Amino acid sequence: MKKYLIIGAGFSGSVIAEQLARNGNSHVTVLDERETIGGNCYSERDPETGVMVHKYGPHTFHTNDKEVWQYIQQFCEMVPFVNRIKTVHHGQVYSLPINLHTINQFFKKSFSPSEAVEFVNAVADRSIVEAQNFEEQALKFIGRDLYEAFFYGYTKKQWGCEPRELSASILKRLPVRFNYNDNYYTSCFQGMPRDGYTAIFEKMLDSPYIDVQLSTKFDSTWEKSTYDHIFYTGPIDSFFNYKFGRLSYRTVYFEKNIAIGDYQGNAIINYPDQDVDCTRIHEHKHFTPWEQHEKTVYFKEFSKETEENDIPFYPKRLKKDMITLEKYLEEAKLNPLITFAGRLGTYRYMDMHQVIKEALDIAKMHL
Ligand code: UDP
Repeated sequence: MKKYLIIGAGFSGSVIAEQLARNGNSHVTVLDERETIGGNCYSERDPETGVMVHKYGPHTFHTNDKEVWQYIQQFCEMVPFVNRIKTVHHGQVYSLPINLHTINQFFKKSFSPSEAVEFVNAVADRSIVEAQNFEEQALKFIGRDLYEAFFYGYTKKQWGCEPRELSASILKRLPVRFNYNDNYYTSCFQGMPRDGYTAIFEKMLDSPYIDVQLSTKFDSTWEKSTYDHIFYTGPIDSFFNYKFGRLSYRTVYFEKNIAIGDYQGNAIINYPDQDVDCTRIHEHKHFTPWEQHEKTVYFKEFSKETEENDIPFYPKRLKKDMITLEKYLEEAKLNPLITFAGRLGTYRYMDMHQVIKEALDIAKMHL
């Protein structure tokens, strides 16, 4: 019987645990310092409204990977769900991701798709050959006006720095469309788990070969030698006691409100203007449109730099961070009995489906 230790009960840790325990020839201990499983995907029913809330911010499942889509559905019923995000700029509501409706409304036009392509090409900064940062990526593809209206302020609030300090890859997450498709994602499989995300983790970890220890902090004093392998999904800099310095993360926090009926008519509305403090408002009943609730609960989301004891959410990956990360990755190579996985373990801005795919691949190497 092999013995494994997994630190973190988010998607990385839970998928690896589920895979390793599946055949009944390994024993897996999963630790998490929180009182709950599921990491930042944790969801629960709000006691006052009965609405399923995504406690650490909105999560919509989407993937192009059939293996991942089939895998997740062993643990839940995925109800088809399309995330259609709105954004409020100077008192007007626009559609995201930037699409033909957004372009026509913003420029007060009624362009056809090809006219819009021509127009945006004319305002975009084509002198930028290879975008070196977030701002250049935006200017290259949509030009200054759309960038300043929908991305500059939001990104400054969200990341706490100038967009030109950030990687172009952050903006590449979002499509720009010259048709009226307002689906936020392009993935062919998209859904919301009918019973929330926590139920997925409960099912994944429900095995006689998995021992989950919550409210249990892993530190360097933990006895490691009795395990055949360790999987660490917490922040990589924390694992090494910040010996090369701290990697920078943004954390988000929420102001929770309850109202009667429908507050904003949509799951997510973004606020890119800098005179509004929050980045976005999520109203969770709209993630489960098949349920009926008299009351509603909505979260105003704010962003700030992480301080001691804050939950790290978004890896900033500034130039200085990448130099520090390199040192941690080199150090990690000296520890072949430990695999670093997931958003925090590898310090990458990953979505749920990417985390699951990598966790499945990591587990395969140990089966
Ligand atoms: N973004 C923006 N305006 C928006 C939405 C997104 O400027 O209305 C930028 C912002 O920098 C954000 C990034 O695009 O961090 C990625 O957005 P996404 O919606 O993928 O962020 P997530 O849902 O992961 O927070």
